[in-house]
Amino acid sequence: MNQALADLIKISRDTGADPTLVQGGGGNTSVKTADGKYMYIKASGTALKDMSAKIGWRRLRLETALSVVKDKAIAQMEPQKRELKVVDRLLEACDDNVKIEARPSVEAHLHACLEKCVIHLHPSAAGAYVNAKNGWSKLQKLFKAEKLPPLWVPYTDPGYMLAKRIARLVDAYKKQFTQSPAILFLEKHGLFITTSSAAGALRLVQRVINQCNSKLKQPRKGKTKKISPEKIDAAKACIDNAYSQGTGGTTKIWYYYNGAIEEFMRLEDARKMLVGCLTPDELVYAGGPAIWVEKCDAQAIAKRLKKQIDAGKKHSAAFLVKGVGLIAAGTEKMAPTVRDIVLYSIFIRTNAARMGGILTLNKRQEDFINNWESEAFRKKLADGKR
Ligand SMILES: [Zn+2]
Repeated sequence: MNQALADLIKISRDTGADPTLVQGGGGNTSVKTADGKYMYIKASGTALKDMSAKIGWRRLRLETALSVVKDKAIAQMEPQKRELKVVDRLLEACDDNVKIEARPSVEAHLHACLEKCVIHLHPSAAGAYVNAKNGWSKLQKLFKAEKLPPLWVPYTDPGYMLAKRIARLVDAYKKQFTQSPAILFLEKHGLFITTSSAAGALRLVQRVINQCNSKLKQPRKGKTKKISPEKIDAAKACIDNAYSQGTGGTTKIWYYYNGAIEEFMRLEDARKMLVGCLTPDELVYAGGPAIWVEKCDAQAIAKRLKKQIDAGKKHSAAFLVKGVGLIAAGTEKMAPTVRDIVLYSIFIRTNAARMGGILTLNKRQEDFINNWESEAFRKKLADGKR
């Protein structure tokens, strides 16, 4: 096997197996070949942890992927058309024997602008800062000993605009520091690590996460209070009922409970903390933050779901029922992702609130995600409705 592909599989599987680093099909990785001609990159629709020699990646001609970012005509296009065009161009850049449905990551052109090995994750530890109102100033203090300071990327719509902005910021950074940045924090999004070797990239991920965690409050582990099966069954039945009334469809209902959920449910301002969407992933995979349920009233919850659908939004898939736990609505494949997103979300919200306030996507940013063609495609694959 080509060394670049072997490295790609290693960095993907190593990081993808940890739900505190990446949830569902989120995150992506790439490795450029030694001759500088090609880039192996994660394919859209396969989770990092599931990548293998056979599936989950594409090989692109690097020059062609880079030309997408430089194309002035694409930059002029209206967003919907532009994102479709970019997907086509990235597919055209593919040069391998992989079947056509596996698109290269929607961020492939962005990876093309970075160093040889790239790991992009949505870690909850980084999320606590990139979703906090003064997160960047906290990060600057935290990483002040770094020879190459981290690069801060203000929130930008994902896809083409993000690739353009990162290319511009990296160019300016290079002028200032004569080298590319190795650590990039993306506001309301996540983390990019980019270095010249796979082992170095994995080590840097670990170091950055440890550094971020050093100032964060970790959820309590160990024994939890016992919740009676009757209470759980009643809450599940209530959400099931609300779901069918509110969405007009049927689904499976799942129950989760652990120390982090228990702790969050005890917070006085738990309801207030579940307002607004943290990241594109929270919106795409869980329909936004979990709905806080003080008392399970199926009709009231159904009304909320219906209102979301009528407004053209994705409806919520997670419900935190006070004193009972987390109820997720969705397929067997999606439910663990919804759970991981909620755990990621409550960790970030708790810590960002302690740091000075939670920073969420605004309405325009949410609308862009809701309309984003690539997200629709990713969601479709994640749902298994290929
Ligand atoms: Zn991302």
